[in-house]
Amino acid sequence: MTTPDESTTTPNYARRRAVIGITGAAALAVVGIGFAAATGWGAPADVVTVVQATNSSSASQVTPSSSASSTPSASGTANESPTATATPTASAAPTTDLPYDISTGSSVTVLVNKHYSLDPVDYAPKPTIKLTKLDVPSMNDHSLREDAAEAFKDMYEAALADGITLDMASGYRDYDLQTELYNGYVEDLGQKGADLTSARPGSSEHQTGLAADISAPGESDCVLTECFGETEASDWLVAHSHEYGFILRYPDGETDVTGYEYEPWHYRFIGVDAAADYHESGAATYEEFLGVEPAPDYED
Ligand SMILES: [Zn+2]
Repeated sequence: MTTPDESTTTPNYARRRAVIGITGAAALAVVGIGFAAATGWGAPADVVTVVQATNSSSASQVTPSSSASSTPSASGTANESPTATATPTASAAPTTDLPYDISTGSSVTVLVNKHYSLDPVDYAPKPTIKLTKLDVPSMNDHSLREDAAEAFKDMYEAALADGITLDMASGYRDYDLQTELYNGYVEDLGQKGADLTSARPGSSEHQTGLAADISAPGESDCVLTECFGETEASDWLVAHSHEYGFILRYPDGETDVTGYEYEPWHYRFIGVDAAADYHESGAATYEEFLGVEPAPDYED
Protein backbone atom coordinates (compact mmCIF):
# COMPACT_ATOMS: atom_id res chain seq x y z
CA MET A 1 0.00 0.00 0.00
CA THR A 2 1.23 3.44 -0.79
CA THR A 3 0.98 5.55 2.27
CA PRO A 4 0.92 9.31 2.56
CA ASP A 5 4.12 8.91 4.53
CA GLU A 6 5.97 7.37 1.65
CA SER A 7 4.66 9.60 -1.04
CA THR A 8 5.50 12.73 0.87
CA THR A 9 8.73 11.69 2.46
CA THR A 10 10.80 14.57 1.24
CA PRO A 11 8.29 17.35 1.79
CA ASN A 12 7.53 16.01 5.24
CA TYR A 13 11.15 15.92 6.11
CA ALA A 14 11.64 19.46 4.90
CA ARG A 15 8.51 20.60 6.58
CA ARG A 16 9.40 19.09 9.90
CA ARG A 17 12.67 20.94 9.80
CA ALA A 18 10.72 24.07 9.02
CA VAL A 19 8.36 23.43 11.88
CA ILE A 20 11.23 22.96 14.21
CA GLY A 21 12.81 26.09 12.84
CA ILE A 22 9.76 28.13 13.77
CA THR A 23 10.34 27.36 17.40
CA GLY A 24 13.88 28.63 17.29
CA ALA A 25 16.35 26.09 16.04
CA ALA A 26 19.15 27.66 18.02
CA ALA A 27 17.41 26.80 21.25
CA LEU A 28 16.75 23.24 20.27
CA ALA A 29 18.82 20.22 19.67
CA VAL A 30 17.14 18.35 16.89
CA VAL A 31 17.73 14.81 17.96
CA GLY A 32 17.09 12.38 15.19
CA ILE A 33 17.51 14.60 12.18
CA GLY A 34 21.12 13.53 12.02
CA PHE A 35 19.94 9.99 12.19
CA ALA A 36 17.40 10.70 9.50
CA ALA A 37 19.95 12.16 7.19
CA ALA A 38 22.31 9.29 7.78
CA THR A 39 19.79 6.56 7.19
CA GLY A 40 17.41 8.08 4.70
CA TRP A 41 14.74 7.77 7.32
CA GLY A 42 11.46 8.89 5.84
CA ALA A 43 8.91 10.98 7.60
CA PRO A 44 5.92 9.00 8.72
CA ALA A 45 2.33 10.05 8.96
CA ASP A 46 2.81 9.36 12.60
CA VAL A 47 5.27 12.19 12.90
CA VAL A 48 8.15 11.34 15.11
CA THR A 49 9.05 14.06 17.47
CA VAL A 50 12.69 14.75 17.28
CA VAL A 51 12.86 17.96 19.17
CA GLN A 52 14.59 18.09 22.45
CA ALA A 53 15.59 21.06 24.51
CA THR A 54 19.29 21.22 25.09
CA ASN A 55 18.87 22.46 28.63
CA SER A 56 16.27 23.76 30.99
CA SER A 57 16.71 27.38 30.07
CA SER A 58 16.24 26.69 26.38
CA ALA A 59 13.26 24.52 27.19
CA SER A 60 11.66 27.46 28.89
CA GLN A 61 12.14 29.50 25.74
CA VAL A 62 10.21 27.11 23.60
CA THR A 63 6.79 27.74 24.99
CA PRO A 64 6.83 31.53 24.93
CA SER A 65 8.33 31.66 21.46
CA SER A 66 5.88 29.19 20.01
CA SER A 67 2.90 30.89 21.55
CA ALA A 68 4.18 34.28 20.58
CA SER A 69 5.06 33.47 17.01
CA SER A 70 2.67 30.78 15.93
CA THR A 71 -0.48 31.56 17.85
CA PRO A 72 -1.30 34.92 16.32
CA SER A 73 -0.63 33.91 12.74
CA ALA A 74 -2.27 30.54 13.14
CA SER A 75 -4.91 31.54 15.62
CA GLY A 76 -7.60 30.33 13.29
CA THR A 77 -6.19 26.86 13.34
CA ALA A 78 -4.39 26.87 16.64
CA ASN A 79 -7.46 27.87 18.55
CA GLU A 80 -10.18 26.37 16.45
CA SER A 81 -8.88 22.99 15.52
CA PRO A 82 -8.16 21.54 18.93
CA THR A 83 -11.18 23.18 20.47
CA ALA A 84 -13.50 22.13 17.72
CA THR A 85 -12.20 18.61 18.03
CA ALA A 86 -12.51 18.55 21.76
CA THR A 87 -15.96 20.01 22.12
CA PRO A 88 -18.04 17.20 20.62
CA THR A 89 -15.82 14.66 22.27
CA ALA A 90 -16.23 16.08 25.72
CA SER A 91 -19.99 15.87 25.44
CA ALA A 92 -19.98 12.40 23.98
CA ALA A 93 -17.52 10.21 25.80
CA PRO A 94 -17.00 6.80 24.27
CA THR A 95 -18.72 3.88 25.91
CA THR A 96 -18.21 0.17 25.70
CA ASP A 97 -19.95 -2.89 27.10
CA LEU A 98 -16.57 -4.26 28.07
CA PRO A 99 -15.33 -3.68 31.63
CA TYR A 100 -12.86 -1.00 30.63
CA ASP A 101 -12.74 2.73 31.24
CA ILE A 102 -12.19 4.10 27.75
CA SER A 103 -13.08 7.74 28.42
CA THR A 104 -10.75 8.86 31.21
CA GLY A 105 -7.44 10.20 29.97
CA SER A 106 -5.46 8.46 32.68
CA SER A 107 -7.16 5.10 32.10
CA VAL A 108 -4.76 2.62 30.57
CA THR A 109 -7.54 1.55 28.21
CA VAL A 110 -8.57 5.06 27.13
CA LEU A 111 -9.77 5.26 23.53
CA VAL A 112 -8.15 8.03 21.49
CA ASN A 113 -8.99 8.32 17.82
CA LYS A 114 -10.45 10.78 15.31
CA HIS A 115 -13.84 10.69 17.04
CA TYR A 116 -12.63 10.78 20.62
CA SER A 117 -9.93 13.12 21.82
CA LEU A 118 -8.50 13.38 25.27
CA ASP A 119 -10.53 15.23 27.88
CA PRO A 120 -9.18 17.67 28.86
CA VAL A 121 -7.67 18.18 25.47
CA ASP A 122 -4.34 19.15 27.03
CA TYR A 123 -4.25 16.10 29.28
CA ALA A 124 -0.75 15.15 30.42
CA PRO A 125 0.09 11.75 31.90
CA LYS A 126 2.03 11.45 35.16
CA PRO A 127 4.52 10.21 35.86
CA THR A 128 6.47 9.66 32.70
CA ILE A 129 9.95 8.23 32.51
CA LYS A 130 12.59 8.06 29.83
CA LEU A 131 13.18 4.55 28.58
CA THR A 132 16.90 5.13 28.71
CA LYS A 133 16.54 5.53 32.47
CA LEU A 134 15.37 1.92 32.46
CA ASP A 135 18.32 0.89 30.27
CA VAL A 136 16.06 0.44 27.26
CA PRO A 137 17.24 1.92 23.94
CA SER A 138 15.31 4.94 22.73
CA MET A 139 16.95 6.64 19.79
CA ASN A 140 15.35 10.01 20.47
CA ASP A 141 15.45 9.62 24.25
CA HIS A 142 11.69 9.74 24.63
CA SER A 143 9.52 8.86 27.59
CA LEU A 144 6.45 6.77 28.24
CA ARG A 145 4.03 6.81 31.12
CA GLU A 146 5.71 4.85 33.88
CA ASP A 147 3.54 1.73 33.72
CA ALA A 148 3.92 1.54 29.96
CA ALA A 149 7.65 2.12 30.27
CA GLU A 150 8.02 -0.74 32.77
CA ALA A 151 6.04 -2.99 30.46
CA PHE A 152 8.15 -1.92 27.50
CA LYS A 153 11.25 -2.85 29.48
CA ASP A 154 9.86 -6.34 30.13
CA MET A 155 9.02 -6.69 26.44
CA TYR A 156 12.44 -5.43 25.40
CA GLU A 157 14.17 -7.98 27.63
CA ALA A 158 12.00 -10.83 26.41
CA ALA A 159 12.69 -9.92 22.81
CA LEU A 160 16.39 -9.68 23.53
CA ALA A 161 16.32 -13.19 24.99
CA ASP A 162 14.91 -14.30 21.64
CA GLY A 163 17.69 -12.53 19.76
CA ILE A 164 15.61 -9.48 18.81
CA THR A 165 16.68 -5.95 19.72
CA LEU A 166 13.97 -3.33 19.97
CA ASP A 167 14.30 0.44 20.14
CA MET A 168 11.72 3.15 20.70
CA ALA A 169 11.80 5.89 18.08
CA SER A 170 9.00 7.98 19.55
CA GLY A 171 6.97 7.90 22.75
CA TYR A 172 5.24 10.58 24.76
CA ARG A 173 4.46 13.88 23.04
CA ASP A 174 2.79 16.60 25.04
CA TYR A 175 -0.09 18.80 23.93
CA ASP A 176 2.02 21.86 23.17
CA LEU A 177 4.42 19.96 20.98
CA GLN A 178 1.62 18.22 19.12
CA THR A 179 -0.05 21.60 18.62
CA GLU A 180 3.13 23.02 17.21
CA LEU A 181 3.65 20.09 14.87
CA TYR A 182 0.04 20.01 13.72
CA ASN A 183 -0.13 23.75 13.12
CA GLY A 184 3.01 23.55 11.03
CA TYR A 185 1.30 20.98 8.84
CA VAL A 186 -1.86 23.09 8.61
CA GLU A 187 0.15 26.07 7.46
CA ASP A 188 1.81 24.01 4.76
CA LEU A 189 -0.95 21.66 3.67
CA GLY A 190 -4.20 23.09 4.89
CA GLN A 191 -6.25 21.32 7.49
CA LYS A 192 -7.30 18.44 5.27
CA GLY A 193 -3.76 17.66 4.28
CA ALA A 194 -2.58 18.05 7.85
CA ASP A 195 -5.20 15.60 9.08
CA LEU A 196 -3.88 12.94 6.75
CA THR A 197 -0.43 13.43 8.12
CA SER A 198 -0.56 14.35 11.76
CA ALA A 199 -2.95 13.82 14.63
CA ARG A 200 -4.65 16.91 15.98
CA PRO A 201 -3.56 18.01 19.44
CA GLY A 202 -5.52 16.00 21.98
CA SER A 203 -6.18 13.28 19.43
CA SER A 204 -2.78 11.64 19.37
CA GLU A 205 -2.29 8.41 21.27
CA HIS A 206 1.22 9.65 21.92
CA GLN A 207 -0.24 12.30 24.23
CA THR A 208 -1.43 9.54 26.58
CA GLY A 209 2.14 8.40 27.17
CA LEU A 210 0.94 4.91 26.29
CA ALA A 211 1.97 4.73 22.63
CA ALA A 212 5.38 3.64 21.42
CA ASP A 213 6.75 3.76 17.90
CA ILE A 214 9.04 0.78 17.85
CA SER A 215 12.01 0.24 15.60
CA ALA A 216 14.81 -2.27 15.26
CA PRO A 217 18.37 -0.93 15.33
CA GLY A 218 19.49 -3.43 12.69
CA GLU A 219 16.79 -2.23 10.31
CA SER A 220 17.49 1.48 10.27
CA ASP A 221 16.07 1.94 6.77
CA CYS A 222 12.72 0.81 8.09
CA VAL A 223 12.38 3.19 11.02
CA LEU A 224 8.80 4.46 10.98
CA THR A 225 8.23 3.10 7.50
CA GLU A 226 6.03 0.33 6.26
CA CYS A 227 8.92 -2.07 5.72
CA PHE A 228 9.29 -2.34 9.48
CA GLY A 229 6.36 -4.74 9.11
CA GLU A 230 8.64 -7.14 7.26
CA THR A 231 11.32 -7.31 9.93
CA GLU A 232 11.93 -10.06 12.47
CA ALA A 233 11.32 -7.51 15.19
CA SER A 234 7.86 -6.85 13.80
CA ASP A 235 7.12 -10.58 13.57
CA TRP A 236 8.17 -10.95 17.18
CA LEU A 237 6.00 -8.04 18.28
CA VAL A 238 2.96 -9.32 16.41
CA ALA A 239 3.38 -12.67 18.15
CA HIS A 240 4.28 -11.49 21.64
CA SER A 241 3.48 -7.84 22.31
CA HIS A 242 0.11 -8.66 23.86
CA GLU A 243 1.89 -10.68 26.56
CA TYR A 244 3.31 -7.39 27.79
CA GLY A 245 0.14 -5.36 27.34
CA PHE A 246 0.78 -3.85 23.91
CA ILE A 247 -1.33 -4.06 20.76
CA LEU A 248 -0.65 -3.09 17.16
CA ARG A 249 -2.93 -0.10 16.88
CA TYR A 250 -3.06 0.65 13.14
CA PRO A 251 -3.04 -2.66 11.27
CA ASP A 252 -2.88 -3.05 7.53
CA GLY A 253 -6.20 -2.61 5.72
CA GLU A 254 -8.04 -1.01 8.66
CA THR A 255 -7.75 2.66 7.75
CA ASP A 256 -11.53 2.95 7.45
CA VAL A 257 -11.81 1.95 11.08
CA THR A 258 -8.74 3.47 12.74
CA GLY A 259 -8.39 6.58 10.57
CA TYR A 260 -4.72 5.84 10.00
CA GLU A 261 -2.71 4.10 7.36
CA TYR A 262 -0.88 0.92 8.25
CA GLU A 263 1.68 1.74 10.91
CA PRO A 264 3.48 -1.49 11.78
CA TRP A 265 5.64 0.44 14.25
CA HIS A 266 2.93 2.00 16.40
CA TYR A 267 2.07 -0.03 19.48
CA ARG A 268 -0.29 1.00 22.23
CA PHE A 269 -0.10 -0.14 25.83
CA ILE A 270 -3.55 -1.09 27.16
CA GLY A 271 -2.39 -3.27 30.06
CA VAL A 272 -1.75 -6.99 30.15
CA ASP A 273 -5.31 -8.06 30.96
CA ALA A 274 -6.96 -6.02 28.24
CA ALA A 275 -4.28 -6.99 25.74
CA ALA A 276 -4.85 -10.67 26.55
CA ASP A 277 -8.58 -10.21 25.98
CA TYR A 278 -7.89 -8.29 22.81
CA HIS A 279 -5.62 -11.01 21.48
CA GLU A 280 -8.13 -13.72 22.33
CA SER A 281 -11.01 -11.81 20.76
CA GLY A 282 -9.44 -11.89 17.32
CA ALA A 283 -10.55 -8.30 16.76
CA ALA A 284 -8.68 -6.50 14.00
CA THR A 285 -8.77 -3.12 15.68
CA TYR A 286 -9.20 -1.61 19.12
CA GLU A 287 -12.43 0.00 17.90
CA GLU A 288 -13.84 -3.37 16.88
CA PHE A 289 -12.74 -4.93 20.16
CA LEU A 290 -14.50 -2.22 22.17
CA GLY A 291 -17.59 -2.26 19.99
CA VAL A 292 -17.37 1.44 19.17
CA GLU A 293 -17.99 3.00 15.80
CA PRO A 294 -15.23 3.26 13.20
CA ALA A 295 -13.41 6.60 13.24
CA PRO A 296 -12.06 7.09 9.75
CA ASP A 297 -12.08 10.87 10.04
CA TYR A 298 -12.76 13.79 12.30
CA GLU A 299 -16.43 14.61 12.62
CA ASP A 300 -16.20 18.33 11.95
ZN1 LIG B 1 3.03 6.37 16.77
